[in-house]
Amino acid sequence: MNYSNNTYSVLFNTQKSHQLVIGNSAYKERINILKALQTALEKTYKQALRDALYKDFKKPQLEVDLTEIYPVVDEIKFVSKHLRSWMRRQKVDTPLTLLGSSSWIKNESKGVCLIISPWNFPVNLTFGPLVSAIAAGNTVIIKPSEMTPHTSKVMHDIVNEVFDEEHVALVEGEVEVSTELLKLPFNHIFFTGSPQVGKIVMKAAAEHLTSVTLELGGKSPVIIDDTTNLDKAVKKVIFGKFLNVGQTCIAPDYVLINEAIKPAFIQSFKKHLKEFYAEDVLNSNSYGRIVNQKHFERLHGYLEDAKSRNATIAIGGVSEEKENYIEPTLVFDLDDESDLMTNEIFGPILPVKTYTSISEVLDYINSKDKPLALYIFSSNKKRVDEIINNTRAGGTCVNHNLLQFLNHNLPFGGSNNSGIGKSHGYYGFLEFTNQRSVLKQHTIGAVDLLMPPYTNFKQKIVDLTIKWF
Ligand code: NAD
Repeated sequence: MNYSNNTYSVLFNTQKSHQLVIGNSAYKERINILKALQTALEKTYKQALRDALYKDFKKPQLEVDLTEIYPVVDEIKFVSKHLRSWMRRQKVDTPLTLLGSSSWIKNESKGVCLIISPWNFPVNLTFGPLVSAIAAGNTVIIKPSEMTPHTSKVMHDIVNEVFDEEHVALVEGEVEVSTELLKLPFNHIFFTGSPQVGKIVMKAAAEHLTSVTLELGGKSPVIIDDTTNLDKAVKKVIFGKFLNVGQTCIAPDYVLINEAIKPAFIQSFKKHLKEFYAEDVLNSNSYGRIVNQKHFERLHGYLEDAKSRNATIAIGGVSEEKENYIEPTLVFDLDDESDLMTNEIFGPILPVKTYTSISEVLDYINSKDKPLALYIFSSNKKRVDEIINNTRAGGTCVNHNLLQFLNHNLPFGGSNNSGIGKSHGYYGFLEFTNQRSVLKQHTIGAVDLLMPPYTNFKQKIVDLTIKWF
């Protein structure tokens, strides 16, 4: 169905009236519907998704399979394996003072949820949170990004085929659609996008005291020291940075390298870039495009700003406006006020800063907002611990990058400016769940003996309780 402004509240109310039915569904019913979504992604709509993502920003097929379809399918498998135990009543201990009662936690659904997703991994970042929301027994309205319209259309078809609209509905459209939806009293909002829009979402949520998960972005640093295998580190950083043309929330945003390894770093960078994309990156089928002209111009502007500040473009720098193409680019000698060092880059430009001591690195990182990811390449265990203990970040990967996203046993998310709340696996399930506490009284308990009128005898019991229990 296609929705318009005045039908959002109708849709919302339809879902609201079904929320208890959906919320009381058995784990098998939830798994069955997740399996239907899995079939749609893996089989029925796989080629349509590949085609749509190619049309939207020339995303290579392998990247679609690996970074859009696989993580969602893997999340469904993980959830299906564990959902029964996550939904089970969780008994907790009873203190002596509450003798005669028992207590447990009921993981109950929050109700009607809103998922607002970005364009950079549109399938992964729409259906990933959806899996958690369904596992937790919620109804969901989805608003995907307007910047990847072909993919949004296919996702709309998938949702229509797999779900009834009182359970899950997808609403396409521009920012105004989000604005209208955000006026409704959702029980939870799961937003993935920029910190700027995250603030708008949180303000709107405050109006109804709606809980939020904000999966945001920021500048994720990579630290490379002089004890690591430099060649391997550089190869991994190039993979992490130029996958999806740098348009990844956890992509390395900038690199901090020991001054002594600068020449070897540049040499290795050139070698691996050539190995990945050959000489003609523009025509490589392993390299996509900037999503649209607006983002192309933003990135192009960052490069112009760097040049005007006499930064050194060590590798790349070539762009092709009509193709929304920017070559993988390595920049040195940037001042801290430059656009590239003050904004999240979200594109294929990698600034490098050199350091002579780790304390310089720690001071620099700690002077910025907490990043979503912080990467360390080092063979020195003590140094790795020193960096982890003396910085704060949403997540860290040591001797690689991006991979922390793929382990469902790890919570994924930022901290403060890079996000609020966590996703993936059990943590994603909890995010869409109210942990309802239930205490059931079976026989008369100690508290019943202490009700008014308060006597000296009762005072003595309270004194003894405070002292001994
Ligand atoms: P964005 O914040 O511009 O948009 C995200 C969503 O919000 C879209 O659906 C858009 O329609 C909607 N939106 C935009 N402006 C709005 C407004 N004023 N009011 C209400 N809704 C609005 O982000 P983007 O450009 O799609 O994605 C890039 C950003 O997302 C980067 O900052 C990146 O780091 C971040 N990101 C974070 C994660 C994560 O998991 N933490 C993942 C991917 C992207």
